[in-house]
Amino acid sequence: MATLEIRDLHVSVEAENGPREILRGVDLTVKQGETHAIMGPNGSGKSTLAYSLAGHPKYTVTSGSVLLDGEDVLAMSVDERARAGVFLAMQYPVEVPGVSVSNFLRTAATAVRGEAPKLRTWVKEVKETMAALQMDPAFAERNVNEGFSGGEKKRHEILQLELLKPKVAILDETDSGLDVDALRIVSEGINRVRATGEVGTLLVTHYTRILRYIQPDYVHVFAGGRIVESGGAELADKLEEEGYEAYVKGGASE
Ligand code: ADP
Ligand code: MG
Ligand code: MG
Repeated sequence: MATLEIRDLHVSVEAENGPREILRGVDLTVKQGETHAIMGPNGSGKSTLAYSLAGHPKYTVTSGSVLLDGEDVLAMSVDERARAGVFLAMQYPVEVPGVSVSNFLRTAATAVRGEAPKLRTWVKEVKETMAALQMDPAFAERNVNEGFSGGEKKRHEILQLELLKPKVAILDETDSGLDVDALRIVSEGINRVRATGEVGTLLVTHYTRILRYIQPDYVHVFAGGRIVESGGAELADKLEEEGYEAYVKGGASE
């Protein structure tokens, strides 16, 4: 069973006046089939955690470890992490000018699987997944994220998630900027992946509304660069009512 183990992770970024520590000792274990919601105020370091796990070069791990099935994720390049089964849906997906969605997806699938997917089954798989996400087939010929609306960007992220079938999915604010219908469609996609029981999911979010569609197994409050409280789905209800103030005031934030 695939397990991601984050131990005492400290991460810094290079700021104008020197390195600044953003993550201050993150501990988290995510097993295949589990869904963990990471919830916290803006600026608490949620995206930094997501990027650090995916291997973004801007973020320097100063101490701690990240293991996937005992393998040292931090020693891997970005590509190696993707092949090992780590998937990141970014909060702000980037444009890839001149590359169509369909080419991008096939290239990514080839890289992750180690061989090109068989064309006929692949085309069918892409079509069906796009239909499930209520995406216009013509969308496949557009350039990645170029002129995409907020909702289209997020659907495209979930399309990748469904096609690439990672072991660990880090979904950074996949709910942000979505209207109610898009939120439901995107959530259904995440739930389809979850139902396979084969992926461990880190659902990073600021708001509780996506948790109406996706019941997390665990909820973690993230403040000041670390997890300050963990619980079950009921913790999200408490956050819905009380907000993050108690955690920020508690000195957990910077
Ligand atoms: P969240 O996703 O929880 O809103 P972030 O991880 O985006 O938080 O940011 C956490 C803190 O780290 C913020 O204060 C942010 O300004 C700072 N930060 C993040 N990335 C960088 C960067 N590349 N350079 C400087 N500061 C950064
Ligand atoms: Mg912080
Ligand atoms: Mg963020």
